[in-house]
Amino acid sequence: MKAILVEEFKKRPEVKEVAEPKIRGPFDALVRIHASGVCHTDLHAADGDWPVGPTLPFIPGHEGVGIVEEVGELVTNIRPGDRVGIPWLYSACGECGYCLTGWETLCESQQNTGYSINGGFAERALADARYVGKIPEGLEFADVAPHFCAGVTTYKAVKVSGAGPDKTVLISGVGGLGHMALQYARVTGARTIAVDVTEEKLELAKKLGADEVINARAVDVAQAAQKLGGADIIIGTAVSARAFAGAFGALRRGGKMVIVGLPPEALPVPIFDLVLKGISVTGSIVGTRKDLQETLALAARGLVKCNYTRARMEDINDVFDEMRAGKIDGRIVLEIGEQTRASYCQLDKAA
Ligand code: NAD
Ligand code: ZN
Ligand code: ZN
Repeated sequence: MKAILVEEFKKRPEVKEVAEPKIRGPFDALVRIHASGVCHTDLHAADGDWPVGPTLPFIPGHEGVGIVEEVGELVTNIRPGDRVGIPWLYSACGECGYCLTGWETLCESQQNTGYSINGGFAERALADARYVGKIPEGLEFADVAPHFCAGVTTYKAVKVSGAGPDKTVLISGVGGLGHMALQYARVTGARTIAVDVTEEKLELAKKLGADEVINARAVDVAQAAQKLGGADIIIGTAVSARAFAGAFGALRRGGKMVIVGLPPEALPVPIFDLVLKGISVTGSIVGTRKDLQETLALAARGLVKCNYTRARMEDINDVFDEMRAGKIDGRIVLEIGEQTRASYCQLDKAA
């Protein structure tokens, strides 16, 4: 089968012919992938950016969606023909304190799709059936793929932030994650301020209903936000510690900064303000299976949509280049497999 293989960090990955994965355990499922969104995490993984890196060679991708082809002998929740997606949380132990208290995303024995286990940038991928998300009827593969990471991650971040009608939420970074975070914040009834560094991103934010926008390259974000009354919540999705430090001063007393962006640097925060203003800074990592179900339910109701462009597996290096340059409007979704490829070519002709 064809897959995007990372053989060396910081080297351009290539589409290669690799062996098809095989069912190994009783809870495994083999999924024929139709679409897979490209997350900035895939770029961090391919560049070996983080303290704990994937083992080379590996296949990235944790927004892979497709059709179940085969399941292990103890699988009861899905069967061949079902439409599923394989999120970042490939599996967890199911038994530790985190798993037992609804925090499986913190399980120390978790496996991660497209990182510790081969992911969705391939024609077929393995999943642990107990951790897949079932795709609601009426959602197309490419439409739903980004909900498996960009969606569930920002849904969860907004959920733990306490956003609501009486809150102003500032979204730092309106990329793949941020443009969805903005929509979840709006679903809660919050007032929203979107911050990014290009006018194109701010245009997208306005189109999605942002109440205010701030260009971090043109003005001081904290001052500009304070002029607008300040923010109760910051959802940090940029790949930039400077962006978060620059936005910190936008917080009102009792405010909360929820960070999901994963730049490899440290965050300089003024302790005096942190203490006197009773501010909290917290990290948030993807979402649980329940969060994923809720995310997919919102997608099925059309309340949150991903703004995406289609591409082919062979385009991965162009996609990564555009991502590094901050030029992607929302997400890019790879369409995978002969069937989807055919429809893609038709779309090409129609355009
Ligand atoms: P992306 O590249 O699509 O978006 C990043 C956005 O930040 C871009 O729009 C860019 O223009 C903007 N930006 C850059 N500098 C900025 C600044 N100074 N101020 C404001 N905005 C700025 O990336 P993505 O796919 O949305 O991922 C974002 C980050 O989130 C990555 O680090 C990724 O690894 C991480 N991530 C974390 C989780 C999690 O569970 N915590 C899940 C998925 C992704
Ligand atoms: Zn991701
Ligand atoms: Zn566990």
